[in-house]
Amino acid sequence: MAEIDVNKLQELIDGSSNIVFFGGAGVSTESGIKDFRSVDGLYNQKYDYPPETMLSHTFFVRHKEEFFRFYNDKLLEKTVGTDTVERALPNKAHYKLAELEKAGKLKAVITQNIDGLHQEAGSRVVYELHGSVLRNYCEKCGKSFDVHYMFNSKGIPKCDSCGGDIKPDVVLYEEGLDNNVISGAVNAIKNADMLIIGGTSLVVYPAAGLIDYYRGDKLVLINKDATARDSVADYSIHGKIGEILGQIVVR
Ligand code: NAD
Ligand code: ZN
Repeated sequence: MAEIDVNKLQELIDGSSNIVFFGGAGVSTESGIKDFRSVDGLYNQKYDYPPETMLSHTFFVRHKEEFFRFYNDKLLEKTVGTDTVERALPNKAHYKLAELEKAGKLKAVITQNIDGLHQEAGSRVVYELHGSVLRNYCEKCGKSFDVHYMFNSKGIPKCDSCGGDIKPDVVLYEEGLDNNVISGAVNAIKNADMLIIGGTSLVVYPAAGLIDYYRGDKLVLINKDATARDSVADYSIHGKIGEILGQIVVR
């Protein structure tokens, strides 16, 4: 693996026409949404249970009210925004990826994030491996609700048509990924001439395993810290992804 700078990244991008981006929580930290594993991430704050427990299917079923307390507070507040908390907006990384797609160079964004910021920045082909907080469905009748309805609900969000509980369209721990999303993502990665992986610790499976479908020789890792899979990369750049991608010229 070679350590590279932004000039080399630019050169690699210039020479590619079927780029795929695979990202995680680190893509949104510059928008003000905390990741899980950085020192100031959610894993290092004190709760009664670790985040994996609170965001598991079992916990959702057994302690729904507590699930929603954590979920509204930690996962929705920044997406919705309040009088005291500023709403998170896309950053330079989201915008540059959208620009690369528009120029025909990037074919897909595959994300583990659930915040919808890639689409807000203008990306169109986005595979959301873990779903989105923006979509929510009644567990009884299927009616859909927006994120504001969820955030403004007290306790367990209830359907205004049938009274059923509403579940976010987010993949919880212990739940499987959507098959259509996986096959779309796998196809995109298989056909990519360049795979850029950024802002992810690559420890959450099966998501992290998808990068093994890449068969080219331009796998670039952009991350603040070392990741679990640094050895599979052809190139790596250490730094903030918004700052790095922000310097790329789309041509
Ligand atoms: P993670 O928290 O495990 O890892 C984030 C990685 O990004 C770390 O390696 C960190 O060093 C790096 N990073 C942080 N800020 C960065 C920046 N500005 N530039 C470059 N790198 C940066 O995140 P993960 O691998 O995505 O796994 C966590 C799981 O939690 C995911 O499955 C995801 O669904 C969920 N999650 C989503 C959000 C979101 O939607 N924004 C936020 C937190 C967690
Ligand atoms: Zn209903």
